[in-house]
Formats: sequence, structure tokens, C-alpha cells
Amino acid sequence: MTRIVIVGAGQAGAQVAFSLRQWGHDGTIALVGDEPFPPYERPPLSKEYLKGELGQDRLFFKTAAWYANNAVDLMTGVQVSAIDRDRGTVSFDGGGELPFDQLVLATGSRPRALPVGGADLAGVFELRTIADTQLLRAAMQAGARVLVVGAGYIGLEVAAVARSLGLPVTVLEAMERVLARVAGTVVSDFFEAEHRSRGVDLRCGARLESFEGNERLTAARLAGGSRVECDLAVVGVGIQPREELARACRLDCEDGIVVDRDARTSDPRVFAVGDCARRPLVHYGRGGRLESVHNAIEQGKLAAAAILGRQRPAEDVPWFWSDQYDLKLQIAGLGEGHDRIVVRGSPAERKFAAFYLREGVLLATDAINSPMEFMASKQLIARAARPDPVALGDRNVSMKEIVDAQRN
Ligand code: FAD
Repeated sequence: MTRIVIVGAGQAGAQVAFSLRQWGHDGTIALVGDEPFPPYERPPLSKEYLKGELGQDRLFFKTAAWYANNAVDLMTGVQVSAIDRDRGTVSFDGGGELPFDQLVLATGSRPRALPVGGADLAGVFELRTIADTQLLRAAMQAGARVLVVGAGYIGLEVAAVARSLGLPVTVLEAMERVLARVAGTVVSDFFEAEHRSRGVDLRCGARLESFEGNERLTAARLAGGSRVECDLAVVGVGIQPREELARACRLDCEDGIVVDRDARTSDPRVFAVGDCARRPLVHYGRGGRLESVHNAIEQGKLAAAAILGRQRPAEDVPWFWSDQYDLKLQIAGLGEGHDRIVVRGSPAERKFAAFYLREGVLLATDAINSPMEFMASKQLIARAARPDPVALGDRNVSMKEIVDAQRN
């Protein structure tokens, strides 16, 4: 009977367990996570759950009973401290070990720490777990002055929640515009205007030098000398893959545990899935690390299929979303390397899409309150389509027509 151990009980690790059971794996499954909760979804942590609109129970994928009924040995609050590939065992922080025939690493990522003074003061938060959100939420008392460091998706989502709770918010972004690493100027400009119109004090090109306070945060000092007084700060400046276990047992790592299309690492008995893995991006002819729910689910399925010797499931175009105020941003594909942006619709109407093309091929789309553009883009990108830019930019030509034109 094959013994499978999954290290990390998050989105990707849980998916491996779900798919293994769904597809008839009859051996043992141990799902080991260091958090005190059963697997849960993280997106609401910076959205509805932070806002207080969603109860904690709604975050969990399955009830505790499901794991018991499906013979998944869910071990919560247990940290794996080492992997012995020769003996085929993982060992636990508090002592004890577990043998495996196949091992899946689903260790996710951790927030990047800011190397500035005062980052350990009370009142400075990061946002990755239920526990982080609970602490942050408790600090978001009426009148609390909120500072957000980093205007990526998570930072902007926190800013939106804080504003909708009526709190004063300042956002610091070191780069010249928000979402600079992931979106074109038209999208950055739009979100900047949106946040400012909601009362956010948004400062781009603003570099944090240190947090100030005596045990508790009271202010932030910026390069150039200015100060922002605040009662709490949320740092959202990116994440780093949790690959130290893999490195320690000499699996290939390169800003992520390197895997093939089946999520297999440099050891054929070991798989890596989700935020911690660097995978082939088949639609782009290169490798990369993706930080999204879609990626975690897809790679979880890829690993489970490979373990069971099933046919490889289809690999979809990467996609992601972000909710801010009443805006739904849906992102299809990866826009890196684009040489042209075509805009469809009007930012002023708060409903538009930005298409990112390279040499005429559609690479990615940011769709704001535009689900049709998002859905159609996924199809077009999957086919490496060269849609007519004039048609893309013309709302009188439907997305269906544009997709159909590529079929002919
Ligand atoms: P995780 O879900 O982080 O799970 C990894 C688990 O492994 C963690 O519980 C970790 O504690 C545990 N672990 C690590 N090392 C060990 C060890 N040695 N022993 C035991 N356990 C260990 N994605 C979207 O697509 N859309 C969104 O809107 C979106 N919003 C987000 C908002 C927030 C606040 C955050 C934090 C993420 C968001 N994401 C979003 C990203 C998405 O949630 C992640 O990409 C996804 O959770 C990755 O799944 P994972 O299983 O790889 O990692």
C-alpha cells in the first residue's frame, strides 16, 4: 500500500489529498500542516474575512469529519523539520517521524520581511494566515490610523477594507506607481485614482526608512525625512517560497523548488506544488513561480495524477483576481515582456480591459468589472492567438466574435 505524505496543509496540499482520494488512491495519506486549522482559503483574509463579513468556518475547504471519513490523516499544528530522502522519512519538530513512498512538498510561501528598523514593533503586521488576520482585525479599531507598506494586490485590498471601515489610510509604494510589477500604466492609474477618490493618502515613490515607537508603533519615517503618524502598519511587499526543507535535502531549487510539468522535483519520488514550486509555464515557454489559487489547485491535480499514473490534466492559462471596493479585477495570463497595450472600454466607466500583446500575440489581460473579456482572453491566450487589435479595442465587436475569428 503506497504511503503518501504531504507537507503543508494549505490550498495546494489539500488539493493533492482531495484529488488522490477522488481518483481512487487506496494507500495512506498524511496531510501535515503547522497551522492549528484544517486547510482553508487565503483570498478572503485580505477581503471579506478581514472586513468581518465572512465567518471563520466559511474559510475551510472541508469539515474535520471529511478528513476522518476519507482516511486522510490530517495532522495540524505539526511542523516538518527535516526530510531524509535515503530512508524515505520526514521528521517532526517536536520529535517523531513518518515514512513515505511518495512525498509532496506544499509548503507555500512567507511574507517578505522589510529590513528596516522597528519592523518588530507591536502594531506592525503581515498578512498570510488566519491568525495574522485576527490580530490585524483586532487592531483596526475605530479611528485607528492605518499605514499600508506596498501597493501590490494585498496592500491595496487591505487599504480598501480599511477605508470601507472608515479608517484613515496612508499607502506607501516605493515604485513610481501601484501594481508596477504586474500591470500596465493604464491599470495602475485607474487604481490610484480609485483609491484616492475613496480618501486614501497614496504616496508613490515613497520609501519607508524605519518604523518608530517605543514598543508600540507610533509613526513611520520615510526617506527624505518626512513622517507618517500611524497606529498600525500592514507590510505587503511580496512573498518568498518556503523551500528550506527542499534545499536541506538537496532538491534543485531556484527561487522555488524546481519541478517538471507533472510537479515532480529532481527526485522522482518527491513532488512540489503551489507557491513553493517553480514550474514550466507551458503557454510561455519558460519557467516561473505562480502565487495563485488557480496554480495551487492545478499543480495539486498534476501531482496527484502523476502519483497515480493517470493522464496529465490540462494546464490552463494562469489566472488570478483581486477585489477592491466594488471592483472585480480578473487577470488572465502573464503580461511580462509585452510591447503593446490595447484598452477596451473606459476607465471612467469603471469597466474596461487592458490587453497585453507581444508581436501581436495576446499574453495577458487585466479585466476590470469585465468578466466576458476575462473569459475570452483565457481562450485566446491558450491558443497563442493574434487577435486584431482594432477589434479588441472596439466594444462594438463582441469578444465572442473575436474568439470565433481566431477559430477560422
Ligand atoms: P499555502 O496556502 O500558504 O499553504 C502552505 C501551508 O504549508 C501553510 O499552512 C504553511 O504554514 C504550511 N507549512 C509550510 N512549511 C511547513 C512545514 N515545514 N511543516 C508543516 N507545514 C508547513 N490568490 C488568488 O488567486 N486570488 C486572490 O485573491 C488571492 N488573495 C490572497 C490574499 C492573501 C491575504 C494571501 C496571503 C494570498 C492570496 N492569494 C490569492 C494567494 C493564494 O492564497 C496562494 O497562492 C495559495 O494559498 C498558495 O497555496 P499553497 O498551498 O501553495 O500555500
